[in-house]
Amino acid sequence: MGDADSLDQLVQAAVDAGIPAVHLVRDGDGVRILVRTVSGLAPVRSLTATGAWLDAAQALPNATRRADRVVIDLVHQESRAGGLAELGMPGAMRTAIERATLAPGGVILVASEDDVALTATMAAAVHAPGERHIVELCGDRADLDIAAQMDCDAILLRGGADRALLAAAFDHAQRGVRIVLGIDAPDVMAAIARLRAARVERHVIAFALRVAIAARREQGLCSACRRPAQAMGSESALLGVDPGTVIYRPVGCAACDGTGFAEPVTLFETVAVDPGLRRLLAEGGDVAILARHAFVGAPTLAGSARVLAREGRITVDAAIRIARAAGAAPVAAAAHPHLLMA
Ligand SMILES: [Zn+2]
Repeated sequence: MGDADSLDQLVQAAVDAGIPAVHLVRDGDGVRILVRTVSGLAPVRSLTATGAWLDAAQALPNATRRADRVVIDLVHQESRAGGLAELGMPGAMRTAIERATLAPGGVILVASEDDVALTATMAAAVHAPGERHIVELCGDRADLDIAAQMDCDAILLRGGADRALLAAAFDHAQRGVRIVLGIDAPDVMAAIARLRAARVERHVIAFALRVAIAARREQGLCSACRRPAQAMGSESALLGVDPGTVIYRPVGCAACDGTGFAEPVTLFETVAVDPGLRRLLAEGGDVAILARHAFVGAPTLAGSARVLAREGRITVDAAIRIARAAGAAPVAAAAHPHLLMA
């Protein structure tokens, strides 16, 4: 087994075990391996590292070298938001979510009126490699209090209008338990309005809420038979493109049983709670003010739908329907979502 192979295996074993960082430290002629644990750095004695490991480790994209020490950071691996990547969430949104959920505990709010999308997004939001203790609850306060004592990686909870249950969820989240709260609501701002309607205290929301995600599914266009066409005047206005821009229409072929449609596509909007939004939440600012702040640099569901329509992944009609449902915010206010969704 070569040095690179065994370093790979070490890193993989560390990722599987949920270890946040591996240190390689030159020590005389040898190299010591240390892993970050709850109680500090623990030496790994079962492997003998050579000087070549330091160079191999240094070459890893998530490694930093300073003098005789190389530290491999395993917390900020792409794999942390791997579940959301699989659902098709754009990279910029996943990065914002990762940043907002680095600290332990807190609430990840998930909004959807589609039960399949809600379930999938809640699970994906806490997906990570290695074995995890994830508890799914449906609306029992006593059960929530027990689960909160059980060293969970996350508690997935469907929230209704039960004030006591919601307040308890936010309370546990403030104390370091990661709560994923699913709400039957069409978008992020509607979900926040539900929390307020249930009289969850605004300072508690401001303090504990880390990120809010809304998801909805639309029929995906069959890529084998979709037909390029020029956007008509009204369509181009709603999509924010020039008239005549190429869009795609469904046709139907053998691959899609003649329907023109394939697998559903999931659309997202994500709001990471930054200090400005936290202040607005604590002040009880109305949702229009919250939305203005939240969507300056991130697309709404309607903005995400426009991007997917321009890419030919969903129909223009679907994008227009979603924009109308969202109150048809003018395209000019959408902050060029295609630039923000790398
Ligand atoms: Zn087809």
